[in-house]
Amino acid sequence: MGAFHVWKKGGWFGNADEMLKFCSGSGCMGVLSDSFSLTEQEQERIGEENLDSVTKWPNDLQIKYEYWYELPVACPCGKTVCAREYLPDSYGFNMSPDKIGDRAEELFNMLERNADIYLVVTKEDMLIHKARHDLQTHGDTKSYWSKLGHARDRELVFYPLKRIISDLAGGTSLSSRIKALLVA
Ligand SMILES: [Zn+2]
Repeated sequence: MGAFHVWKKGGWFGNADEMLKFCSGSGCMGVLSDSFSLTEQEQERIGEENLDSVTKWPNDLQIKYEYWYELPVACPCGKTVCAREYLPDSYGFNMSPDKIGDRAEELFNMLERNADIYLVVTKEDMLIHKARHDLQTHGDTKSYWSKLGHARDRELVFYPLKRIISDLAGGTSLSSRIKALLVA
C-alpha cells in the first residue's frame, strides 16, 4: 500500500548501496545519509588499505565511531535533530495509487531528478499483517506460513532513469506514469 525507501548507490563500506533515512519533521521529505564520514586526518591515520576493515583502525577511532549511529543528525529544514538510529527509513504508509504517484514525483524532484525507480507490488494487500494476526491471535502456524508464502508473490518493475527521462520528454508526468504502472 505504498511505502518509499531511498537508496544511495555505492555505500561507503565495500560497494553496498546505502538505505537513506527520512527526516521526521512534518511536511519535509528530506533524506539524510546514514553513513558517517571520517576527517581527512583520520583517513590518513587509518591508511587507505585498512579503510574497509574497522578492526585494523587505531583503537581510539574504533571507540569514537562505535556508537556513531547514536550521534545526532540535523535536517536542513530545521525541524529535526535526532539520533540517526531513530530516524524512519521509510516514508508513507497506506496510500492510494494516486498519492503514491504524487509522492514519487515529489521525491524524484527532491533527488534532483536523478534516480531509478523500483516498484515492488504485492498481489494481495496486507498479507503479512494478516499472517501475523493469525499467528498471534489464533496460534495458527500453518496459516501463518502459507500466507507468508503468498506475500512473497510480488511483481517487480524496474523503471530506470533513462526511461523516466525519455517518458518525461514525451510530455507525461512522472506521477501519472507511476499510477499507470501501479494499476497495470
Ligand atoms: Zn527535514
